Amino acid sequence: MNVRDVLVLGAGSAGLMAALTLKRRLPQLNVRVVRSPDIGIIGVGEGTTPAFPQHFFDYLKLKPQSFYELAEPTWKLGIRFKWGPRDHYHYTFSYEYQQRQPDLPRNSGFFYGPEEQWIGPYSALLHHNKAFPRRADGTPYIHNRHAFHIENLKLVRWLETTSRTLGVEVIDATVTPEAGPGGIAALVKEDGTRLTADLYVDASGFRSELLGRTLGVPFLSYSDALFCDRAVIGGWARTTEPILACTEVETMDAGWCWRIEHENFINRGYVYSSAFLSDEDALAEFLRKNPQVTTTPRVVKYRSGRYQHNWVGNVVGIGNSVGFVEPLEATALQIICVECSTLADSLIDSLCEPNPSLIELYNRFNTQAWDDIRDFLAVHYKFNTRLDTPFWKACRSDTRLHGAEFLVKFYQENGPSVVAGVQLLHASNSFGMDGYLAMLVGQNVPHAKPYTPTEQEARKWRDHCTRWDAEARRGFTVRQCLDAVRAQGRTGVWTVPAK
Ligand SMILES: Cc1cc2nc3c(=O)[nH]c(=O)nc-3n(C[C@H](O)[C@H](O)[C@H](O)COP(=O)(O)OP(=O)(O)OC[C@H]3O[C@@H](n4cnc5c(N)ncnc54)[C@H](O)[C@@H]3O)c2cc1C
Repeated sequence: MNVRDVLVLGAGSAGLMAALTLKRRLPQLNVRVVRSPDIGIIGVGEGTTPAFPQHFFDYLKLKPQSFYELAEPTWKLGIRFKWGPRDHYHYTFSYEYQQRQPDLPRNSGFFYGPEEQWIGPYSALLHHNKAFPRRADGTPYIHNRHAFHIENLKLVRWLETTSRTLGVEVIDATVTPEAGPGGIAALVKEDGTRLTADLYVDASGFRSELLGRTLGVPFLSYSDALFCDRAVIGGWARTTEPILACTEVETMDAGWCWRIEHENFINRGYVYSSAFLSDEDALAEFLRKNPQVTTTPRVVKYRSGRYQHNWVGNVVGIGNSVGFVEPLEATALQIICVECSTLADSLIDSLCEPNPSLIELYNRFNTQAWDDIRDFLAVHYKFNTRLDTPFWKACRSDTRLHGAEFLVKFYQENGPSVVAGVQLLHASNSFGMDGYLAMLVGQNVPHAKPYTPTEQEARKWRDHCTRWDAEARRGFTVRQCLDAVRAQGRTGVWTVPAK
């Protein structure tokens, strides 16, 4: 296969991110996107992880200014879990559980008491609804361990504008795939016109037109680890609520509810299991707990799992067409970034002539990334003791941990030991040990090696907590940071610092 022409089927986040990435990294390619005006896009997907800014601003080296102007994001520094026995705890993107204070003998995970509300400077900021710390000169320190909240339609608008600027062609048509010896022979428009290419990117969303429907690649379900299969979504225009610098996830009777913070809108979504709750009851619980909702709620159905391979013949799947898990860690856009960059790198390194071993490696890497997400989410469910509803009882007794099983056993025998970090997860695991420790220590999951600090150590730990508290109180809210960066204009200090 000699790749010169690429045809992307779909112009949701996945299709546009694939087209933009390929055109930016391989400008010699002819990249076209075909999208159906009748089918439209899924129109959800508003939380991200730090992989998102890294992809666009470090890997693709795009200027963040147009993104901030067109997509109008707010910053996300982590997730607030209303989950487990604590009132809440935070999973920040700053690796606080494994950190060791220089004057203490063990890492912070061993000192974080069940009643404490932060474990480091970044969770203290989130606890106080602050986003970024204050520098010595009084300005916000907008570091790069952040992600974004972005309204999906604004993200798609920015992606389309940027793709077109780079030379990507967008075609409006509903197409029917035609199979051929190498995979796909053509995408056929309603008027019979055949669109052909060397490589087809299937970004057709849940329809999986090429990988699933046409090539018949088997779908592997994650339903033994993730029981939810629906979401009811609604929201309201922001009034006086502060803009939180994190996504909030709250335990619900048969699942959980996100709260995603946009500058002028608050988006809520109840992810639930239809085996335990009807759509009507989910809607009723959603509205009872969110009486502010003014939009008409809509129900989205999905199945968790992935196709056996991402790349088959001349077809590469990106986004929902290749797999889906619920947005508990907002990983869909993250994995799209990973899929897009590994595809671009594969084409670059193979001089656009990918061979079977490279395709095999691409599949191994990306399917592993999907399974890593399943394993991490499974741990979220297995230990949440917040409610005793039939759904949560079933999660605690029946959730299969798959690849996380040994890691959890290690934790149960050894506690939040730093030894685990280098041994238990492979280098490309995007959550790292700190992600797991946030879920295990945050939910007070018992282990065999609790540490009782000496009086002196306990005093030092309290001093650190007090200092983090004071620093956090001096920090900047999202609103103050938005005002600060806008006041600086296009050349301001707010551009994302290089890694
Ligand atoms: C309830 C829910 C909440 C989510 N929350 C998050 C989140 O917080 N963070 C996150 O990262 N992700 C989240 N996601 C996932 C996220 O929405 C998607 O992964 C992302 O938007 C990518 O979608 P997509 O581009 O793959 O598919 P879609 O947006 O569905 O796009 C499919 C495209 O294919 C085109 N198409 C399909 N068939 C044809 C055809 N025959 N001819 C022509 N065109 C065709 C359509 O027109 C469309 O352009 C969430 C998903 C759900 C369901």
